[in-house]
Amino acid sequence: MCGRAGVMVGAVMCVACALGHVLPPPPSSHAHNNRLQAERHHLDDPHYVFRSELDLPADLQARLQEDHHDPEVTGGFFQGDMAGLTPETVVMNTRVALKWEAFPEKRWPNATVPYSISSLYGQNEQQMIRTAITTLQFLTCINFVEWDGKVEDYLLFWPMKRPRGCWSYVGRRGGMQVVSLQAPDHRSLRCFASLGKPIHELLHALGIFHEQARPDRDQHVTILTENIITEYLGNFRKQSGQNTTFPLPYDYSSVMHYGSNFFSYTKSVPTIVPKVPGVEIGQRIMLSKLDCLKLNDLYGCLEDPTDRLKYITFCNFLGISQLSS
Ligand SMILES: [Zn+2]
Repeated sequence: MCGRAGVMVGAVMCVACALGHVLPPPPSSHAHNNRLQAERHHLDDPHYVFRSELDLPADLQARLQEDHHDPEVTGGFFQGDMAGLTPETVVMNTRVALKWEAFPEKRWPNATVPYSISSLYGQNEQQMIRTAITTLQFLTCINFVEWDGKVEDYLLFWPMKRPRGCWSYVGRRGGMQVVSLQAPDHRSLRCFASLGKPIHELLHALGIFHEQARPDRDQHVTILTENIITEYLGNFRKQSGQNTTFPLPYDYSSVMHYGSNFFSYTKSVPTIVPKVPGVEIGQRIMLSKLDCLKLNDLYGCLEDPTDRLKYITFCNFLGISQLSS
């Protein structure tokens, strides 16, 4: 139980990390546990306000909380839903990405990811989270295991109050690591509107950035900066070439691609336009074939010849590319 309370510790440390441009080490377990006990009641308090120095100005929050905005953009994090990072940390420290050889601690060891799901979620939401996990477990060699209450590093699915929305850290950060999925309310299904939303955040937690942050994206999409809320122009920066380690084609169908009007002043004007006419972007139905291959590559699932054939076959069954037609 105390593990759940550690969310606050992790989140606050994340803020410090973002401001200090360094990634914090995992907390020592003793001090960590004491802090968890002290913080636990906050997480069980539905009125508790998350103390984030990354909070947005109230007027901006209000604009982003409007119904037409996706909950992926409401957290106020780097590129909308990635905690623990700022544009500066990524630009200046180009290791915060997928290159395991440069940043090995971001990888989940033995492709094993312990997880726990908050009981604050209803049955339907818990079931969707489990379906997202089961989907990734089936399509890849990544093994998700229920947290045993002991291991230090695990994912905790928790409906954070503030910043609310759908958000995740990128890669393993050490200790308890929140994947925040805003629960349905009277206005919308929020992060449970489709299976692709929890899958999107899970892929961040496994170490994957947004597709349109690739260094070669300008060959594939046009960014309409004049339509982007000024404060969020930074969300459309590209990663350096050092961060992109996979020679897979640009994937409009990726579940990790922004939608056409993310961070737009209004829903009616786009912020990203594909250079291929008629192509759809921003699907949150299911990971794409290339998302699947990327994940398998990332976690070494394709190294054994038998497994390679199996997982490539599985990935090939994913038909999200049809959305592009
Ligand atoms: Zn995202």
